[in-house]
Amino acid sequence: MAKISIAQHILAANEVVAEEIRQMLTPRGIRTINVMSSPGAGKTTLLERTIERLQGKLGIGVIDGDIETTADADRIEAAGAADAIQINTRGACHLEAHMIRAALSEIDLSHIGLLFIENIGNLVCPSSWDLGEDTRVVVVSTTEGDDKPAKYPHMFATSQVMVVNKLDLLPYVDYDLDKVKEHALTINPHLRIFEVSCRTGAGLDAWCEWLVAFARDNAEVARKIVQEV
Ligand code: MG
Ligand code: ZN
Repeated sequence: MAKISIAQHILAANEVVAEEIRQMLTPRGIRTINVMSSPGAGKTTLLERTIERLQGKLGIGVIDGDIETTADADRIEAAGAADAIQINTRGACHLEAHMIRAALSEIDLSHIGLLFIENIGNLVCPSSWDLGEDTRVVVVSTTEGDDKPAKYPHMFATSQVMVVNKLDLLPYVDYDLDKVKEHALTINPHLRIFEVSCRTGAGLDAWCEWLVAFARDNAEVARKIVQEV
């Protein structure tokens, strides 16, 4: 019982910081997406391909969470992000709002309309931590088990978007895509689903179109769209 109330207290404290982050980013017209998946589903690759495609259309910032290494933020920067920063959690298996607040003080927000937070590869606890995001995207891939929505329902219940990656490998794996979609929609009927291959580029146009629309929903963001000269 004591353990439960301590956990609730920690999550409540996290919620306060998350709200502080939203109140800092929303007036600046910055829309934030918390990207979650198991390790290896392709979060970083999805962000790389997205940044390349939206070059000149949207200023994109990325806060990259990993247990160790700056490899992902390096890749994101090379892809052309307006700014990227790496958080190393040194063992912690999820990001918390105070980590995002600290990272935001080191990021140049002036050219950013859309901020991605790449969470630690883990389908369990990241779903319990509000990072001050406007929306949540869960990435799954055809090389993992097609039982992910059934096994990790909280992740799919609290996400607004599901991206199914590695579509090009579908003919070579025993992955029942219809079952995944059906399970995910049973858990969360409002889930928006994109099927993509970061390798071939299939489906990325629709995903990027949605991102632009999502970012432009906020009038403030529209002003920040980098004009092509
Ligand atoms: Mg990554
Ligand atoms: Zn954790």
